[in-house]
Amino acid sequence: MPELNLILFGPPGAGKGTQAERLERDFQLPFISTGDMLRGNVKNETDLGKKAKQFMDAGDLVPDDLIVAMAGERLQHKDAQDGFILDGFPRTLEQAGALDKQLSGVGRRVTAALLIDVPDDDVIRRLSGRRMCVKSGHNYHVEFDPPKHEGVCDQDGSRLVQRDDDKPEVIENRLKVYHEQTEPLVEHYDEQGLMRRIDGTRPAAEVNDHIRAVIATLRLEEDV
Ligand code: AMP
Repeated sequence: MPELNLILFGPPGAGKGTQAERLERDFQLPFISTGDMLRGNVKNETDLGKKAKQFMDAGDLVPDDLIVAMAGERLQHKDAQDGFILDGFPRTLEQAGALDKQLSGVGRRVTAALLIDVPDDDVIRRLSGRRMCVKSGHNYHVEFDPPKHEGVCDQDGSRLVQRDDDKPEVIENRLKVYHEQTEPLVEHYDEQGLMRRIDGTRPAAEVNDHIRAVIATLRLEEDV
């Protein structure tokens, strides 16, 4: 079976995390989220966490050298050798170049970049209602995907909180950063013929069906 090295990208709040969780289950691929990794570092007060926190709180990107080192190290783990789903990385052209270089150095390459596209207005509505479990990062939405009991995670009973970077003033900056620094990746992966666009405004189950169909096609193409 050919390996699947997938990149999920799209504006903040496009549902990348939700989709990645389902894909991880469906395809038994490790789900690697640089945002989750950074939040873990902040929580554990590591050196990296201390350096990253100020950027994250402002909705800015953490500098490329820190991210490239962190993600590069993670991709060398054994579980990522037969494929992976990257969520939130790469986010700049420089990061994309570093990823291409690391993979080609070991005879691998990105299989596809899946853009989950959602307009800005929807992003604002989605992010401002998002709540996250303090323990394991499960996501909910006060309107679209509420937990059974308000403020409590269905899966492990932990408290639900609003991420600091989901506060309105920060959301605006995150969108600006996305358009300026991450959107150029569309062209980067288009040029390589790897870009696949998904309508992220559809319900999560439909988005998942679309992604699975894209992956099935990719697998057929890789087999040829
Ligand atoms: P996320 O959960 O993916 O939205 O990430 C939360 C925050 O972590 C972002 O707003 C950035 O500050 C930081 N971050 C995550 N991934 C990256 C990346 N690839 N490059 C730079 N900063 C990142």
